[in-house]
Amino acid sequence: MGGFGSGRWYRYGTRPLAEQCLHLDVNKLKRENLLRPGLYYSIRWESGSTIGIATFHDEIELSYATNPGKGDEEHVRYRVPLNRTPCNFGGYRCWFVCPNMGCGRRVAKLYFLCGYFLCRRCHNLTYESQNEDKVDRLNRKMRKLRTKVGGNGEDLISPFPDKPKGMHWDTFDRLELKDFEADREKMRILSWQISTLESEIGRLSADPAEEVLDNRQLTGTADRARLEGQQVAISSHGC
Ligand SMILES: [Zn+2]
Repeated sequence: MGGFGSGRWYRYGTRPLAEQCLHLDVNKLKRENLLRPGLYYSIRWESGSTIGIATFHDEIELSYATNPGKGDEEHVRYRVPLNRTPCNFGGYRCWFVCPNMGCGRRVAKLYFLCGYFLCRRCHNLTYESQNEDKVDRLNRKMRKLRTKVGGNGEDLISPFPDKPKGMHWDTFDRLELKDFEADREKMRILSWQISTLESEIGRLSADPAEEVLDNRQLTGTADRARLEGQQVAISSHGC
C-alpha cells in the first residue's frame, strides 16, 4: 500500500497548521458506519497517502508505511482506543483517545505528523484562526504603543514615531522595543502564511477528501489473528 511522505511543512522552522495535516475524523467515520467492529478497510487521501484501518469493539488499529520508497521507510501499526459518551437526546457520541503515551485526551480528530496520528496538542498544532487572532492582537498592541508616543494609531507601516517632548528616553526606548517585537512577531506569522500559500500552489490538496477502499467485513480467523495483539506503544514521536 502507499504511505506517508513527510517534511514539506518545515520551512521557516514553524509547525504546520492543523488544517494542513492529514487527519482522521471520528465523526466522519461514524457517519459512514465505519466504526462498527470487524471491518478492515483502507483510506486513501488525494495526495496518495494510504492507511489501513481494522475496527474492533472499542478501538481501531491503524497500519501504514511512513516515507515509502525511501531509506527510512517504516511500517507502523498501533491501536487507537474509542470512547463513547451519551448524547442528551439519545444515541451516543464517539471520540478517539489520543494514543500518545501519557496523553489520553478524548478528541474528535487525530492529525498525522512525524509518523503518527496524534491529537492536536501532542503535535503542537495551531488553527489558522488562532494565527489570525494573534495578528489582530499584535496590531492592537502596536496601535496602542504608537498612540502613547503621539502617533495616530492607524499607521502601522511607517517607522515608530519620534520621541515626544517631555517623555523620558528610557520610557520611549521601552515602548519602541515593544513595537519592534510585536512587528517582528507579526511578520513571522505573515511570512509563514505566505509560505503556506506558496506550498499550497502546485501540489495536490492535503485536505482529506479521502476515499474508502477495500472495505470488507473480517470473517476469517486468519484475518482476526493477524490483527490481534499488536499494540505499539508510542513513547515519543521525536519531532
Ligand atoms: Zn495527544
